[in-house]
Amino acid sequence: MILEKAGKICDGLYSIGHPSFPAFLIMSDPPVLFDSGLTISGPRYLKDLEKYLGNVDRLAYIFLTHSHYDHCGAIPFLKRNIKGLEIAASGLAADIFRKPKAIKLIQSLSRDYEKKFKKRIRNENIFFDSIDVDITVKDGDEFNPGDGWNIHVIATPGHTRDSVSYYIPKLKALIPGEATGVYNSNFDIQSEFSSSYNDYINSLEKLITLDVDILLLPHTHILTGVDARGHIQRSLESAKVFKKRIDVFLAQFNGNQKDTVKAIFKEDYEDTQAVRQDKRSFLINLAAKVKAVAEGK
Ligand SMILES: [Zn+2]
Repeated sequence: MILEKAGKICDGLYSIGHPSFPAFLIMSDPPVLFDSGLTISGPRYLKDLEKYLGNVDRLAYIFLTHSHYDHCGAIPFLKRNIKGLEIAASGLAADIFRKPKAIKLIQSLSRDYEKKFKKRIRNENIFFDSIDVDITVKDGDEFNPGDGWNIHVIATPGHTRDSVSYYIPKLKALIPGEATGVYNSNFDIQSEFSSSYNDYINSLEKLITLDVDILLLPHTHILTGVDARGHIQRSLESAKVFKKRIDVFLAQFNGNQKDTVKAIFKEDYEDTQAVRQDKRSFLINLAAKVKAVAEGK
């Protein structure tokens, strides 16, 4: 099944915030949240946490898939509003948050949304200052937040170098960030190998071996049953097809990456009108994917 909803997914699992930028809550003891997207989503996450947890201070950890602004943007706001909240992320993500340039990019991409949705923010202090990572996670780590819940960490670089996925055996649930493809509104899979095509393929081959019943995509869709199981295979196939398209354009434009980006942007973004991502982020990621293929990464 393909779900597009917020709220309860199954016993012990909730999607909070807007379905386009969800955070996933598991009711372990203490409860754990995975990712927390845009800065402007902070107040809504907090409201949803209050709804499901009663006291928001019960939330002990946020596990982060990667350091993109639409996955970590609300963390500073939540840290300011939830006592004792600890942040878990990969060591590479922790390093990125120490770089002023990375913080500036997160602030700048967040600002586009903050301007657009000014009214929603009111007087809330949603400012993204920085993130101190409290717990560094690495491939093979297991966390047991209690009540029979386990969280397995799987390093899945390729979308970014710092990407990790989380697998929760109790629900056979996978939280891949963008390690698998995401859907556009025509249900075509958008491949996400912004840092390395080869790493992205290797990561998908790792994920394909998991027994997955619930696949919590980073934007809009939650897949269950056969749709969840098939998505990783389809992501693998789509990535290979997309890489070939980039190769063909690069050959056509004598290796010119800018022209290649322009041509793919026209076909995939302008002509289809089916991409849910904002134009600026789409272009940044597309340029990175073209670069990765051009450089044989
Ligand atoms: Zn991302």
